[in-house]
Amino acid sequence: MEEISNFIKTIMINDLESGKATKIMTRFPPEPNAYLHIGHARALVTNFELAKSLGGSTNLRFDDTNPTKEDASFVEAIKNDIEWLGYHPANVFYGSDYFPETYELAIKLIKKGLAYVCDLSQIEVSEYRGTLTEPGKDSPYRNRSVEENLRLFNEMREGKYEEGTKVLRAKIDMASPNINMRDPVLYRIIYTPHHRQGTQWCIYPMYDFAHPLQDAIEGITHSLCSLEYDNHRPLYDWVVRVCEMEHVPQQIEFGRLNITNTIMSKRYLKELVEKGKVKGYDDPRMPTLAGLRRRGITPEAIKAFILASGLSRINSTIEGDMLDHFVREDLKLKANRIMAVTNPLNVTITNYPEGKVETLTAPNNQENEALGTRTITFSRHLVIEQEDFMLEKPNKHYKRLALGLEVRLFNAYFIKANEVKTDENGNIVEVLATYDPATLSGSGFQDRKPNGTIGYVDLSSAKEATFHQFEPLILDDDKETNFIERLNPDSWKTLKGFVENQSYKPYNRFQFIRDGYYVVDEASSDAHLVFNRIVSLKSSFTK
Ligand code: ATP
Ligand code: MG
Repeated sequence: MEEISNFIKTIMINDLESGKATKIMTRFPPEPNAYLHIGHARALVTNFELAKSLGGSTNLRFDDTNPTKEDASFVEAIKNDIEWLGYHPANVFYGSDYFPETYELAIKLIKKGLAYVCDLSQIEVSEYRGTLTEPGKDSPYRNRSVEENLRLFNEMREGKYEEGTKVLRAKIDMASPNINMRDPVLYRIIYTPHHRQGTQWCIYPMYDFAHPLQDAIEGITHSLCSLEYDNHRPLYDWVVRVCEMEHVPQQIEFGRLNITNTIMSKRYLKELVEKGKVKGYDDPRMPTLAGLRRRGITPEAIKAFILASGLSRINSTIEGDMLDHFVREDLKLKANRIMAVTNPLNVTITNYPEGKVETLTAPNNQENEALGTRTITFSRHLVIEQEDFMLEKPNKHYKRLALGLEVRLFNAYFIKANEVKTDENGNIVEVLATYDPATLSGSGFQDRKPNGTIGYVDLSSAKEATFHQFEPLILDDDKETNFIERLNPDSWKTLKGFVENQSYKPYNRFQFIRDGYYVVDEASSDAHLVFNRIVSLKSSFTK
């Protein structure tokens, strides 16, 4: 894998050289209100790889300061996804565990005359805030005395007030050109129990107050976040300064990752799950890390994709094909190449004795001898892909089987199609063929060339299997139309066929020769084999 290199690394190296930082500390701060998606992978890879490449370390910190949306099940799912990607946080922290310190620092600000309790409603607060072109107006509660503020804030904490009736606000500047600096809310009242703190607290700090303090407490040197926090940075710095934090962390923003035909916002992913449009957060069509895992995509491919997509201070939209490209690159030499038939057509080898079964040796991966060989079988009754047979050769480019033509069966013999059997509707149900025993693969037979090579599975040892194939969930990126109406009705296709007789354990990955890469589904068993197609072999993406 390529080593990470981007504008943030340059800043970090400079900070190490100047002595501003002695050891790089980063953190990944997910809110446990949904599953992680491929966009989060950019933040994860960036934080972990940058710190690792410079001898630093990375914390996982749950940004769990809003009990109304968060849940312990998301905490576990997020931990699991991060482990799966291969990252091991130096520490796992919870923002809510800092509530005592955060509360003390709020009191400190009140005492310094830099925070006040405000009784305006949420709507009034935003009306008073002004607009980009007009300054805001001071709240009528802005000049409460320190004593009154201390008393009211304490009463807020004791649960004397209804939700929405009081907030604690910073006293900064209602005329600031940066709206975030116009007396932002620091604390609000919430009575929903917290998944970790229970009912210990009924006041909760806002992200803009809690986050810089948590970074400072943990000694985070570089606090990386996506671009939308750009104009929150002055507030971040203000909080660290006025709270007189010993350690001063630095916020740096980077562009968000978007992928074509992929919706990534947690809100939308939640809607897909809750409306039953997908089978869950780990549906193989979902851009969640859980979905990509179930789809069979490897952590290595995700990391290579994230690194190759680069990082800058602008949001970027990347072709989804590019991830597929890295999946193929990763699996090309790792996966055993086996034969499977997803749309079976029966072939009977009429000159092969009934009941005889022959075992043949096949390389596991023609491009990687280290993967060794395996045993396959050949007998009178085989299946091939329907699309590998036509009655007549349509043109000279057709390199498969047709009546009167001879093809090689991968790792086995030449067979020649002589006749077909049809059902009452005229559909071809069986091909009668003959084989030539002199043509065994590897025997050095050179006398004539076949019309191509096709796959097959021998029914004497075949295992039945179900195959799932996927197309993008979303048809196009027309932002005007609600994404639910842009859902692709053909995004999930199920086929039934056969695979050769090998061992198939959940999460084993294979290349089905000439088709694509497949993973054995998590719910697959020997009695009911299920494969998910990870990617097809062909791609339109070129690196
Ligand atoms: P969403 O906007 O998808 O609902 P979020 O930003 O609210 O996600 P958080 O749990 O707050 O989700 O995200 C944790 C970290 O991941 C943040 O630092 C956030 O900036 C980053 N992140 C989330 N989505 C992306 C993305 N598409 N590209 C890059 N970074 C992202
Ligand atoms: Mg967020």
